[in-house]
Formats: sequence, structure tokens, C-alpha cells
Amino acid sequence: MKCKLCLKNKKLIKAHIIPKSFYKPLMEDKEIPLIVTDKVGMYRSKMRIGVYDSELVCEECERIFTSWDNYANEFFNQKLLDENFIIFENKNIAYNFGKCDYKKLKLFFLSMLWRASVSKERMFTRVKLGKYEERIKKIMLNNLEEDSDEFSLAIIKFDNMNVRGFLDPDRTKYEKVNHYRFYLGEYMAVIKVSSLSDPKCFQELYIKENKDVICTFRDFRKSKEYNVMKLVSKKSWKNSNK
Ligand SMILES: [Zn+2]
Repeated sequence: MKCKLCLKNKKLIKAHIIPKSFYKPLMEDKEIPLIVTDKVGMYRSKMRIGVYDSELVCEECERIFTSWDNYANEFFNQKLLDENFIIFENKNIAYNFGKCDYKKLKLFFLSMLWRASVSKERMFTRVKLGKYEERIKKIMLNNLEEDSDEFSLAIIKFDNMNVRGFLDPDRTKYEKVNHYRFYLGEYMAVIKVSSLSDPKCFQELYIKENKDVICTFRDFRKSKEYNVMKLVSKKSWKNSNK
């Protein structure tokens, strides 16, 4: 089968799209949580840890992703220190992660976006990059030698984890600019995919080289995503009791 990255005819392997480590905070007593998906008829399927696809890449190409995946794993599983929280009116509103390995973090998110776009898995049907698929592929193969403003990245942390699950990644517009959203356990990654300039609401939040990584908090209960999840959970309840 043809590898989607090197385009050679090779034996393809089970390639992860979302690394396993992101599911860890959602595990309880080593129980695999249910995957919450917002597609009809798929409500109660068991979460497959680190959604994978066997028709994506060869072993050699998967190895390109490994160091980026490992870095993202380290980054998102680091212990949050009290002194780095940004407080406003007695509430934690953001966290300053300090400097990051910008290259690795950006390549991780771009590669995840690319993997999701190339994949035929149902979970990723809303991720369709079109012409940007090829652009991201080039950036990955060049190891980000040429960075691009077409792709900017911000991370948001949900501060209430009563609702557990993953929503399917989707596309949305912030100030008319296209973004993809990935729901990664406690975090949401927002990736701009557009040649338009950065929307104002994200200007200070996009991760930039040599700048501190500021992650804002959002109360899950008040967010739109939470409402979707709640609705989905209710529906799935009904479905399983039929
Ligand atoms: Zn390959």
C-alpha cells in the first residue's frame, strides 16, 4: 500500500493520530472511558486509546512523528506550578508554561492535523485541509525550516473536567478566519489554517518562537463545547436504554 507521506509502496503500520498520552487524564481506575462522539449511532462506542489508522504511513515515516509526539506528551503532562498561574479576581484565568521547544510543538500539532486530514477514520471527517495538506507535508519534511503564518496555534485548558470524553475535531471561524479545534482531554488545541492575518482575539495567545506559552482557561460548564457534550451524553443515555 502507498504511504501517504513518502508515497512509496510499503507495508503500512498502525499509526497513531492522537497520541495515547492525551487520554491518560480521562482514565479512571485504569478504565477506558467512553468516547463521546457527536455522530448519530456512534454514541456508546468504547474509546480507542490514541485513535490510530492502519492506512496512513509506513514505519519509517511514523518515526518522523515520534519525537514530536514524545515532546507533546512531556509538555502536556508536566506538573503545573502554583506560581505560574495567572490570577484575576481570585480565579485562575491562565497558565504560563514559559518557553517551549517551538519547533517540536508546532510540528506536533501540524502533523496531528495532517494525519487527521489524510485519515479516513470517521472521527476526522470534519478535518479536510485541501491544498494545505500538501503545504503541511512540506513543512514536516523540511522540519519547519520555513515556518508559515498560515498555521498558528493556541492552547486552551478546560478547568472543569466533570464531563469526560473527546469530541471529534471540528472546524470553526474566529473573526472569519478558519481554525481547527482538537479536543485533547483537558486541553483544546486551536489551529489557524488560513492565509488571512491572525484574528485579534488570538493575537496574544498564539504560540510564537521565543515567547512564553500562555494557555487560557475556560470554564467547561459555560463553554459551547460543554453544551454539545452534555447533549451527546444525554442522547447516548437514551440510546443505550432503548
Ligand atoms: Zn513512508
